[in-house]
Amino acid sequence: MKYVDEYRQKDIAQGILASIRALSTKRAAIMEICGSHTHSISKYGIRDVLPQTIRLISGPGCPVCVTSAGDLNRIIDFIRRERNIITATFGDMMRVPGSASSLQEEKARGSDVRVVYSPMDTLALAATHPGKEVLFIAVGFETTAPTVAATMIMARDRGIKNLSFLSLHKLTPPAMRALLDSGEVELNGFLCPGHVTAVIGAGAYRFIADDYHAPCIIAGFEPLDVLQGIHMLAAQIEAGRAAIEIQYTRVVTEEGNRKAQEVVQQVFGTADASWRGIGMIPSSGLKIRESFGAFDAEQRFALGAGSDEEPPGCSCGDIIKGVMSPYECPLFGSSCLPESPQGPCMVSSEGTCSAYYKYGRNKQ
Ligand code: SF4
Repeated sequence: MKYVDEYRQKDIAQGILASIRALSTKRAAIMEICGSHTHSISKYGIRDVLPQTIRLISGPGCPVCVTSAGDLNRIIDFIRRERNIITATFGDMMRVPGSASSLQEEKARGSDVRVVYSPMDTLALAATHPGKEVLFIAVGFETTAPTVAATMIMARDRGIKNLSFLSLHKLTPPAMRALLDSGEVELNGFLCPGHVTAVIGAGAYRFIADDYHAPCIIAGFEPLDVLQGIHMLAAQIEAGRAAIEIQYTRVVTEEGNRKAQEVVQQVFGTADASWRGIGMIPSSGLKIRESFGAFDAEQRFALGAGSDEEPPGCSCGDIIKGVMSPYECPLFGSSCLPESPQGPCMVSSEGTCSAYYKYGRNKQ
């Protein structure tokens, strides 16, 4: 199969691995900040075959996982109060535990909560339910925001009045800065997300090399992409360099997708945002501009504030920050399983605990 098999060839992988082993002498902690990288690394056993000098740390790469308990709890409080609402969201959000309930449990109790596969699906929902308010819970990083913004523009152009969006979008570079500033986890470089960077452009990470002297490699998601990305990081670390380099040149450019950036700019401005485990990070979220206020759930409804209490015993906050491995959580693989998740990192298909459980539960 073209464009997949080429990036999974065993002999080439072994060659890159041998080269990493030959060149890596300095201890290097490298964070992958994308859930798809975490899954690829776990699926192909890459963590296990690297030299001992290189430690891969999984970071805040899952949009569902980084949604704060406070945001989830206030959504649940709201839909319990307001019965004329259809709540629409992505499937992974349904089972994320809040402090005392989840959207799935609220659906079972009678709230009208629906899974959509695209934000665009909400246009049809609103059109076919004119007597109801449709609320879309908009989670996701820079990759999801352009589609949500485009949906809002279409809703405005079609004159739709009963559709609103709760923007819980998160931005990747500010979270990387927050992790570096926190000093909670020692990091020597980043494996940066290919899809996010296809939108924002590699230039968005320049401050990480300039201010923190940490190299960034933007890598694709196939095993050879990841290994080559690690090789490029190791080469920079050995040479004492810190630069932003693109391994994923078939998709990513320095400036990113200008059209997608314009659509996002038209609808959203930046705002402080609350991340599960990390807390409030300045300018790390997207808020809906005044000109689209008619679609902003924050302006249209009294959503209130939710309790920030985490699910009991869950260590997802530390997993998201990279200060703890899933294997260190006492609930991992016992009371916390994919079919009975205690925290978002086990729920989501992009979650770190989910990846470690699916591909490495016997390695504890
Ligand atoms: S194993 Fe479960 S409870 Fe523990 S951190 Fe992961 S998701 Fe949370």
